[in-house]
Amino acid sequence: MLNKVFDVICNFIYPNKCVLCNKEVIKREAHLCEGCLKDLKPKPRLEYLESDENIKGKVKCISPFIYAGSIKSAIWRFKFRGYKNYSKFFAGIIAKEIQKRFQNLRFDYICFVPLRKEREKNRGYNQAKCIAEDISSIIEIPCKDILIKVKSNHVQHELDLIHRRANVKGAYDVKNESEVLNKSILLCDDIVTSGSTLMECSKVLFESGANSVFCCTIAYIPKSDFSDKHQ
Ligand SMILES: [Zn+2]
Repeated sequence: MLNKVFDVICNFIYPNKCVLCNKEVIKREAHLCEGCLKDLKPKPRLEYLESDENIKGKVKCISPFIYAGSIKSAIWRFKFRGYKNYSKFFAGIIAKEIQKRFQNLRFDYICFVPLRKEREKNRGYNQAKCIAEDISSIIEIPCKDILIKVKSNHVQHELDLIHRRANVKGAYDVKNESEVLNKSILLCDDIVTSGSTLMECSKVLFESGANSVFCCTIAYIPKSDFSDKHQ
């Protein structure tokens, strides 16, 4: 009862807005307006992440959307404008893809790419953690805070491919190796560009004895777009 009253008050003060176009949405539990729901066409990509390490061909990543248009704007608001509530929408779509593409796999848990403590404090949350927690409750596997950022590095999106790989080297570690040994792990981040961050995290998981690592993100930047920008 109290929850319902709280919902009504929240809806009055903060009307429910469409994740993609920001128009008011009447149904409180809906994430999209009717127009955006009709136009929503994910373009899922499932492929191995590239790596020059010895885990090449071992880590697949599923991402439902191309990082463009209204999805790109929504991710930006989610990351930089405090729209933490978008997480449930993104998680719902990623979870559907996981259930479809990885249906024969059993994950022991889901974890996420950590942020530097200072950055997480400034933002108030880690967007990858929010999505991982929401995916965890949909696909009913635990969510574990297993990785730690041990090196402060340069912002990845300002670098080209070669410098991205060098930039993340040694940036992550595992908090507790005994929780990784022989486990099948799903690793979550918001966007995949070169895949360097996810591969570096996967590498430390494998070094700690993980059996398998699969990745998921909201969106991917197509390789052609990425190389155009960084030639
Ligand atoms: Zn809309």
